[in-house]
Amino acid sequence: MTVGILGGGQLARMLGLAGIPMGLRFIVFDPAPDVCGAAIGRHIQAQYDDWDALRAFAEAVDVVTYEFENVPVAAVAHVEKYCRASPDKVALHATQDRLRENRLFQSLDIATPTFLSVDSASELQVAAETLGYPLVLKSRSGGYDGKGQVVIRDQSETDERWSETQQRDLIAEEFVPFDREVSIIGARGKDGDMVFYDIAENTHTDGILRISRNCPDDPIRSQAEELLARLFDKLGYVGVLALECFQVEGRLLANEYAPRVHNTGHWTIDGAITSQFENHLRAILDMPLGDPASTGLCVMVNCIGDLPEVESCLAVPDAHFHSYDKAPRPGRKVGHVTVRATNSRDLEERERRLLAIQPKL
Ligand code: ADP
Repeated sequence: MTVGILGGGQLARMLGLAGIPMGLRFIVFDPAPDVCGAAIGRHIQAQYDDWDALRAFAEAVDVVTYEFENVPVAAVAHVEKYCRASPDKVALHATQDRLRENRLFQSLDIATPTFLSVDSASELQVAAETLGYPLVLKSRSGGYDGKGQVVIRDQSETDERWSETQQRDLIAEEFVPFDREVSIIGARGKDGDMVFYDIAENTHTDGILRISRNCPDDPIRSQAEELLARLFDKLGYVGVLALECFQVEGRLLANEYAPRVHNTGHWTIDGAITSQFENHLRAILDMPLGDPASTGLCVMVNCIGDLPEVESCLAVPDAHFHSYDKAPRPGRKVGHVTVRATNSRDLEERERRLLAIQPKL
């Protein structure tokens, strides 16, 4: 069977690394000439509005999936004329606009930070009166890794920060004094079967995910699973889905969802019985889902900007190195390292050693 992936980055690459042992073949579709996902199969280099190329791609595969949420909905809709897409365009559409996404959460009784739509300076004023400071202004579409958002700490900064935005198609959000950021990742099959991974606790630096650790038996887990299950069922979703939340005291506020395999689930490659990548493929190919249970404690550290020396990472006990074969560039995710341990003292020590050898951000 052949899987087509819209987007040819590291997530496509890791899907391939999970699927090749299952006998699967891959075609990645990406406009860029040199993509790290091309290592897993054929690369069709064409634009997302090249309808003929999309059709040829769809006709050459058994199922299409996507690895980033800014693939145009029209491209997925076109592909769906010739081939099944999982997840489908519905899940993609809702997540491409933060306002639409937050309203979807509200319709499912999933709490979010308080937010208002902002399309002008006067609406920002209203938002500031409602939300108070600090507040976060985010562009409704196209943002990732914290791009397209600014924090306004007090009234005196408003004009300066406002001038840094596109000044329309924004949402203003209360700045959440969260205790921690967590994500829940699960897979849902065509028959509605669901599996859930351990909660991941996540740390961001400058808006970019730096560290994820799995939290076996976390008390917030059942609440998180319940929220994700609501989203799964509403979207009639097939595949892996990730929900990122802020935790404030015992309560979860949904920040965003990603209709794809997710960076906060990379630990599952080394730390779960069945990785998120394998389970995504199993789900979209209508195969039985695999056991998502973790095998112990894990920390995943993203390599941002440049890779550390492989040998130094592998000198840390039970560390596992994943290079994406991407050129170094400031702010770019070029790999990750996962380290495992059987107790939290060893884990913390190993994490400290790994962080000490990461190149400076
Ligand atoms: P992106 O989609 O670009 O990753 P996010 O909305 O996830 O953007 O924001 C990136 C990070 O910025 C979050 O993980 C969090 O650390 C911080 N952040 C975003 N929104 C808020 C908020 N309302 N309150 C506090 N911190 C926030």
